[in-house]
Amino acid sequence: MIFPSAHLSTRLAHAGSRHDLVTGASSVPIYQVSTFQQDDPEHLGPYDYARSNNPTRAALEEAVASLENGAQGLAFASGMAAISSTLLLFAPGDHLIVGRDIYGGTYRILTTLFKRWKLDVTFVDTTDPEQVRRAITPTTRALFVESPANPLLQITDLRAMASIAREHGLLAITDNTFMTPLLQRPLDLGFDIVLHSATKFLGGHSDLIAGLAVAREAEMGRRLRAIQNAFGAILGPQDAWLVLRGIKTLGVRLEAQQRTATAVAAWLRQRPQVRRICYPGLADHPGCAIHASQTSGPGAVVSFELADRAAAVDFLKRVRLPLVAVSLGGVESILSYPATMSHAAMPPAERLARGISDGLIRFSAGLESVDDLIADFSAAFNRKMDLRV
Ligand SMILES: *Cc1c(COP(=O)(O)O)cnc(C)c1O
Repeated sequence: MIFPSAHLSTRLAHAGSRHDLVTGASSVPIYQVSTFQQDDPEHLGPYDYARSNNPTRAALEEAVASLENGAQGLAFASGMAAISSTLLLFAPGDHLIVGRDIYGGTYRILTTLFKRWKLDVTFVDTTDPEQVRRAITPTTRALFVESPANPLLQITDLRAMASIAREHGLLAITDNTFMTPLLQRPLDLGFDIVLHSATKFLGGHSDLIAGLAVAREAEMGRRLRAIQNAFGAILGPQDAWLVLRGIKTLGVRLEAQQRTATAVAAWLRQRPQVRRICYPGLADHPGCAIHASQTSGPGAVVSFELADRAAAVDFLKRVRLPLVAVSLGGVESILSYPATMSHAAMPPAERLARGISDGLIRFSAGLESVDDLIADFSAAFNRKMDLRV
C-alpha cells in the first residue's frame, strides 16, 4: 500500500497494486466471483457477496479515494449510475441547485426520472455565485456543479460554491470527469462528493463504461455504500481492473494530451475559419484566472466554432485522424458534434440561447503526434476551400 503522502504521480502508478498475499502478483487479481465461503457462519468475513464488496472493485475504490483525498471511493456500472445512485441520497420535495450547463445525461435524469420522484431542481448559471445564492430556498439540500462545463468550458468558482454550501448547510457535489484528480481535487476545495465518468480520462482507452463517486467524510461514504449495495448499480471486476490499469498511466497520458490541446487551440485560433475558441488555457477565456486558481492545468478538451452547420459537418466528414464520436478522454483524439450528439435532445432555440451553435465542435486531444493532427485539420480546412473555388 502506498503511503498517503506520496506524490500524485506515485499514487497513480501504483493504483491498486495491493500485492496479492498468496502469490505476490504485481497487479490485483480479477475476482470473477459472486460469493465467498464463510468458515464461521456467525461472523461473516469482509467479503460475503460480490454486490456488497469485491476485492478487485475495492482496489479501484481505494485508489480513487486516495487520488481525490476522500474517505471512501465507490465504483459504479457507469458515470450515470454513479450520478443516479448519489441522487438517491435525496427525498421527494428536496430542492437541488444544479449548474445550467451540466452533462446532458444528468440534465435528462433530473428532468425526467427524478422529476417523477418529486425532486425539485433549479438550473442556474453557476459561473455567477450570486445567482446560486438567490436560488436557495428553505428546502434546498444540495449544489451540483461542473467545472469546466460542457461543451463551452465555462468555469465555476468551486471555492465560492463550497463556501455557499457550508453557509447554508447544503451538500456540495461536483462532476470532475473533465479534469480528473490529476488536475483538480474538489474535496480539497471543500466539496463533499466528487463524481466521475471513468469511461473518459480515467479509463482512458475508449474500451469500457464505468463511474466513480468519492465522499470526503466517512459518514457520507457509509451512506453512499448503503445505496450502492441496495440499488446494485455496481462495476464488475473485469471493468474495475481495466479502470485501474488505465489510472496507472493517467499522469503521462493527460499531460501529453493537455500539451496537444494547448498547441491545437493556439493553432485553431489563427485559422480564419474558426469563429470562436473555448479553452480555459487561453488568457482571454473568461474563467481563465479562476480555473488556474483551482486546478493544475487547462485539460485536454477544446471547443471551437466554425461558420455554420455546413462548415462543421464538412470538417467532421473530411478529418481523418480523430474519431468522430460521442465521448472524450481516449488515447485517440475524438471530435464530437454537440448539435446532434450531447445536445440533440435540447430544443434548438434553447441550445442556441446557451451559445451552442450548429458550428460548434468539441475536440478531445489524444496521444497522436500534434504535427499529424494539425496536418489533418489543415487538410480538412483546405479541402473545403478547394471545393469552393
Ligand atoms: C460521459 C459523462 C458522464 C456520463 O458517464 P457514462 O459513463 O457515459 O455514464 C457524466 N458526466 C460527464 C461530464 C461526462 O462526460
